[in-house]
Amino acid sequence: MAILKVAQLGHPILRIVAPPLDPERIHAPEIRQLITDMLETMAEYEGAGLAAPQVHVSTRLVVLTLDADEPPEIWINPELTPLTDQTEAVYEGCLSIAGLRGRVARPAAVHARYLDAEGTPRAFFLQGFPAIVAQHECDHLDGVLYIDKADPRTLAFLPEFQRFGPLHQQLELPPQQEGDDEPLDDFAIELDPTLEPHDALAAAMRHHNLED
Ligand code: ZN
Repeated sequence: MAILKVAQLGHPILRIVAPPLDPERIHAPEIRQLITDMLETMAEYEGAGLAAPQVHVSTRLVVLTLDADEPPEIWINPELTPLTDQTEAVYEGCLSIAGLRGRVARPAAVHARYLDAEGTPRAFFLQGFPAIVAQHECDHLDGVLYIDKADPRTLAFLPEFQRFGPLHQQLELPPQQEGDDEPLDDFAIELDPTLEPHDALAAAMRHHNLED
């Protein structure tokens, strides 16, 4: 086990589109070691997620926490599909942009399809915070950072963020999109990976209504 060095803003690996991980290699010792080390690195730095390019490995692998009460997820070759035009805006940070926060509006619900650490196809319906974390981490696989999508007027160093509070409130900035000030409930619901994204949404809603 090892805590890995996290690439910082300006390192070109953070801007490269990572190639897929060959499913045949999922059980290779170097990939098992990478997964173990990424989980340890994420925990050490108290990140909500970590993408392989952030530890200098250009491959489509992320680890992320969808629910603080559950073990972290390991996603290989993830594909995200937004399921709504509604956005949710929160202040994000990134282990590769140490000490900065900025407000990003993202689709509030997504379908995620990926291979798990055993190479098994899995899928989730995600809404609220888990949807935001998934999008932030999967963006890293395409060389995209949250500062690319943040309202630049909201960027703040952590001490100033803590001292002055969220800048969009201080500056009375209008929402980037209508509705982005209204957080949705957080959901991470596992789905049949063979379902198409919009069928998955219908299934998730049935599941949610049944649980109510
Ligand atoms: Zn990040």
